[in-house]
Amino acid sequence: MSTLQQAISCVSDYDPDALPVAKANEVIRSFIDPVSGVEKLPVRAALGRVLAKDIVSPIDVPSHDNSAMDGYAVRSADLPRAEAITFTVVIQEAVAADGERITIPPGQEPGQNRRLAGEDLQKGKPALRSGTLLRPAELGLIASLGIGEVSVRRKLKVAFFSTGDELVSVGKKLKPGEVYDSNRYTLWGMLTRLGCEVIDLGVVRDDPKKLEAAFRRAAAEADAVVTSGGVSVGEADFTKQTMAKLGEVVFWKIAMRPGRPMAFGRIRARGKSAYLFGLPGNPVAVMVTFYHFVRGALLTLMGRRDTDLPLLRAKAETAMRKKPGRTEYQRGILELKNGEWSVRLTGAQGSGILSSMSEANCFVVLAHEQGAVKAGDYLEVMVMDGLV
Ligand code: AMP
Ligand code: MG
Repeated sequence: MSTLQQAISCVSDYDPDALPVAKANEVIRSFIDPVSGVEKLPVRAALGRVLAKDIVSPIDVPSHDNSAMDGYAVRSADLPRAEAITFTVVIQEAVAADGERITIPPGQEPGQNRRLAGEDLQKGKPALRSGTLLRPAELGLIASLGIGEVSVRRKLKVAFFSTGDELVSVGKKLKPGEVYDSNRYTLWGMLTRLGCEVIDLGVVRDDPKKLEAAFRRAAAEADAVVTSGGVSVGEADFTKQTMAKLGEVVFWKIAMRPGRPMAFGRIRARGKSAYLFGLPGNPVAVMVTFYHFVRGALLTLMGRRDTDLPLLRAKAETAMRKKPGRTEYQRGILELKNGEWSVRLTGAQGSGILSSMSEANCFVVLAHEQGAVKAGDYLEVMVMDGLV
């Protein structure tokens, strides 16, 4: 297990006050080690889990040569004339049948419509690799090998809570200056769909003792803790002190929008530890920082090999303002127009406007170095469907 300072020292030009998204992710990934617990589950129960060991195929699939189509298997030796159609399958529709006799038209290729033993999976070779997410295709593939149980990584336990004196839980009346705690709902949703076992620690008031108690409980019970609020410049001081008191934590200003402030590290209590992600408070910033830092980190903790999501190219319907020197994740609507993917923004892009996340079906990812976008320019989008 390396220290956070060691992970940071591997990153060139590290500046915690203007950290590019890619460098923050580099530090996070190099500091995180997958959880080690493994359990054996029946195949269906393993849906959505991460394979803990390679599965080596115990058989060839298919186990013997067979026909891919309904038809007639033909050996040249059985034909009246020597035709070069050794071991081939002639499809039923091509054949003229008359009682016990059939007539095969010319033009048949040797070996056509044959499935060879082992053409899907070969005995003794790895069929699935450790770190693979088990989706419906993998469940079927495992079943095709005759295997009924698989070794998967245990579920990740993730604690989360909201911080803020202004927060009110759903079901109570709002007084002036108060807001409903929506982050606990978005976080709960994102963590649950990522496949985590969630521990909801509620709303924690801006009070050092309560905050410390919540962090201690999270460190003792969970693999990771995700919080929202309390890390922005105006109010960070005692949150920072509390976090720093419990372990190794760094406080970043990330060169991105939305979502500049973020805390990351590992806290300890009762001989246990948890990775800490202190996200900003604004509802859109919470979701953006979760998707672009926490998601990949938690998948890595779960033992997943591939965590990157594809970026697609789309045409900008309108101009977009953008300054070089930070990554922006604007909320977009991607649509097929005249045979081409085209994208427009959802409207106001403020970090408190959660309706922009609900309306959007993609993030418009404006890269660190990129400047303003003109209508008709091609840019990169990340489809939200894959993000959970
Ligand atoms: P903070 O980072 O704590 O200063 O919060 C930034 C902004 O996000 C403030 O306007 C907060 O009221 C708002 N905010 C913080 N936490 C939540 C939450 N759990 N739900 C909704 N809004 C929040
Ligand atoms: Mg706050």
